[in-house]
Amino acid sequence: MRIIVIGGGASGVVCAIHAKNVNNEVIILEKNDKLLKKLLVTGNGRCNYFNDDFDLSHYYSFDTTKIEELIQEKNIWDVKSFFDSLGIIPRIKDGWYYPFTNQASTVRDALIREVHQKEISVFYNTNVLDLEKKDDKFLIHTKERDYYCDKVVLASGSFAYPNTGSDGVGYSFLKKFGHTIIPPVPALVQLVSNFPYCKEWDGVRSEVELELVQDGEVIAKEKGEIQLTDYGVSGICIFNLSHLVSRGLHDNKKEEIRINFVPFIETLITPWMDRYSRRNSTKNIGELLEGFLNKKLVPIVLKCSNLTKEMFYDELTTEEKINFCKYLNQFTIEITSTKGYDQCQICNGGLRLKEVDLETMESHLVDGLYITGELLDLNGECGGYNLTECWITGLLAGKSIGEGNDSN
Ligand SMILES: Cc1cc2nc3c(=O)[nH]c(=O)nc-3n(C[C@H](O)[C@H](O)[C@H](O)COP(=O)(O)OP(=O)(O)OC[C@H]3O[C@@H](n4cnc5c(N)ncnc54)[C@H](O)[C@@H]3O)c2cc1C
Repeated sequence: MRIIVIGGGASGVVCAIHAKNVNNEVIILEKNDKLLKKLLVTGNGRCNYFNDDFDLSHYYSFDTTKIEELIQEKNIWDVKSFFDSLGIIPRIKDGWYYPFTNQASTVRDALIREVHQKEISVFYNTNVLDLEKKDDKFLIHTKERDYYCDKVVLASGSFAYPNTGSDGVGYSFLKKFGHTIIPPVPALVQLVSNFPYCKEWDGVRSEVELELVQDGEVIAKEKGEIQLTDYGVSGICIFNLSHLVSRGLHDNKKEEIRINFVPFIETLITPWMDRYSRRNSTKNIGELLEGFLNKKLVPIVLKCSNLTKEMFYDELTTEEKINFCKYLNQFTIEITSTKGYDQCQICNGGLRLKEVDLETMESHLVDGLYITGELLDLNGECGGYNLTECWITGLLAGKSIGEGNDSN
């Protein structure tokens, strides 16, 4: 039997490795001149490929109840054993797995070795333009020639980070076969704000608590280090909220991020400020702020609350105090857009999970069509969850194809 995998990224390569056996000829069609280009930029070049904490709350899908069918102990265990079998020694920090070398190329090279060892054919610089089914065969069109096969695996990725090869073409193939696609939006991405003082806070990193406010209602919370930039906000805690922001903006909702710059204050903030200023009664308000706020943020908080640094906190009216404190623990900025597909790590949205057999990754609509990786409507937080989803779906598809035609 001939199997063609469209896309030599994370999920496609793992699928091909598991689909190959004596009876199966496996071919990868890859439009780049190398395999696994995206993998090299993951985890800032270190590749965060797995995580010990597999709570389902780290994942999102329109078909919420389907998540547990994929992110289940057996599948996770299979992924772990597979990486152990590749000889990759992990460096584990707070449950996040990186190769011990801290080099993404360690993971990529181990996978490529396996592709060669299994004698899987790879056709590079081969851009699939169209896919159709004729009787019980698939016909794959490229500029140079057509390919036919018995089973096809669509592993061509989402719209995210297109300079690594993924441009979302797989969604249109799936639509043509009658599948439903939840409109993809950028996720794990930096957020752009119209806040007028972004240029002034550029470069600040601060431990904060965050609330995502959508149309005036808090819909999610995060904590961690925020990075304030000349266009808006970034950092892992922002990335983890970004799919909700993207989806909200797509649906014309108003998106605001509310920042608590003083998460160490566990009581009500105004009495805390009253006590703090009494203990430091000789200091003006600028000097008080410098005791706990990044220097670049001090003039911004003062400007926003219409105060000057020479003023004394005790001399403010109650209204001025309340307003000032609001800029410390409820600093709210509007988000107007994201950094988009060019910069996002993944997409939220994709092929409805309910249209796929989640034990084999075969389409419920088209026999012999398998879908893996980011094309699916399943996305995770930062922490190795997205690659793990790709490993799991690649492995399930590959094993099901391999075992389905293994007479040994
Ligand atoms: C900067 C960055 C950092 C990341 N860091 C992490 C991390 O540390 N941990 C984590 O878990 N996840 C991370 N991710 C996410 C992770 O890389 C992706 O979820 C994963 O690579 C998606 O795998 P995939 O197989 O679905 O698609 P891809 O890896 O995108 O592969 C798709 C492949 O298909 C090929 N292709 C596309 N169209 C065609 C066509 N028409 N014909 C032929 N070939 C085609 C592409 O060239 C590409 O090689 C990161 C992503 C980015 C961009």
